[in-house]
Amino acid sequence: MTEPLFDRLAIIGTGLIGSSIARAARAQGAVRTIVATSHSPRTRKRIGELRIADKVTETNAEAAEGADLVVLCVPVGVCGDVAKEIGPHLKSGATISDVGSVKSSVVRDMGPHVPKTVNFVPAHPVAGTEHSGPDAGFAELFENRWCILTPPEGTDAKAVDKLAALWRLFGANVEIMTPEHHDLVLAITSHLPHLIAYTIVGTADELQTVTRSEVLKFSAGGFRDFTRIAASDPVMWRDIFLANKDGVLEMLGRFNEDVAALTKAIRKGDGEALYEHFTRTRAIRRGIIDAGQDTAAADFGRPHGHDD
Ligand code: NAP
Repeated sequence: MTEPLFDRLAIIGTGLIGSSIARAARAQGAVRTIVATSHSPRTRKRIGELRIADKVTETNAEAAEGADLVVLCVPVGVCGDVAKEIGPHLKSGATISDVGSVKSSVVRDMGPHVPKTVNFVPAHPVAGTEHSGPDAGFAELFENRWCILTPPEGTDAKAVDKLAALWRLFGANVEIMTPEHHDLVLAITSHLPHLIAYTIVGTADELQTVTRSEVLKFSAGGFRDFTRIAASDPVMWRDIFLANKDGVLEMLGRFNEDVAALTKAIRKGDGEALYEHFTRTRAIRRGIIDAGQDTAAADFGRPHGHDD
């Protein structure tokens, strides 16, 4: 085992992602001490029972105090408030990061509360499941997944490298991009697919001619996969759509145009257009498998979950 990268790690918001970071950090010997906290007394009690941290604090400020790395693992909508709360308690020379699925709004909301003596390196591990809470986390969640860092201009390169090294220790591949570009990429690869899943499951639920029990009974293939995605945490996803409004609206506009084109092809009985389209999309699936981001297995190789 190598020297720990950080002395004291503070996790603020110890749900699926926060508890997975704590577990991975301990499994890899990446830090010397782990301090964790969460919003509700119930979750704080559970973190203690699970023994995934060396210390559980009552408040976010207490957790941040003296930490070398503070990672906010809270819904994106509260990142700014939490940064404001802990800002005055951050140690000089420390690094503050997050795991939010949207980056522009998080950088905008957190940035003003980060003291000049503290390094701010926002991050998004593109790894997750539809489950929430500290029981749902596991140390291997980030293996062979991407972690995108979006450091603001002028961030100390050493701090960025050190956080990148931590994510690599967790088994992740690291890429650096601007927050704006991140939000556009994720709008099409994650946010829009979730919106479609939320829509289609809602549509099926409201049908009159096909009963709810028939939908459940015959939910083979496609619909079943959509229900898994549509079971994702409502608070987290509400915040993502509010925070990445521009990116999602841009991709939704393009998507609607493409749905209209496919609708027309079906109406006109244009089999050639449909065949061409489906051949192109099949090749994309093959590309994802070739890139090692999924397997061809029927359970998609990851019974644990998917990427957000
Ligand atoms: P989660 O399991 O629901 O955990 C979120 C935690 O944040 C909860 O434990 C909650 O505490 C805590 N929290 C909320 N407000 C807080 C506050 N003001 N102070 C302290 N703790 C607070 O959610 P998650 O899936 O880990 O998501 C966390 C973040 O990761 C989100 O920003 C999300 O965008 C991002 N992310 C998620 C995924 C995914 O697939 N789930 C993937 C990548 C990134 P209580 O339980 O005590 O209420």
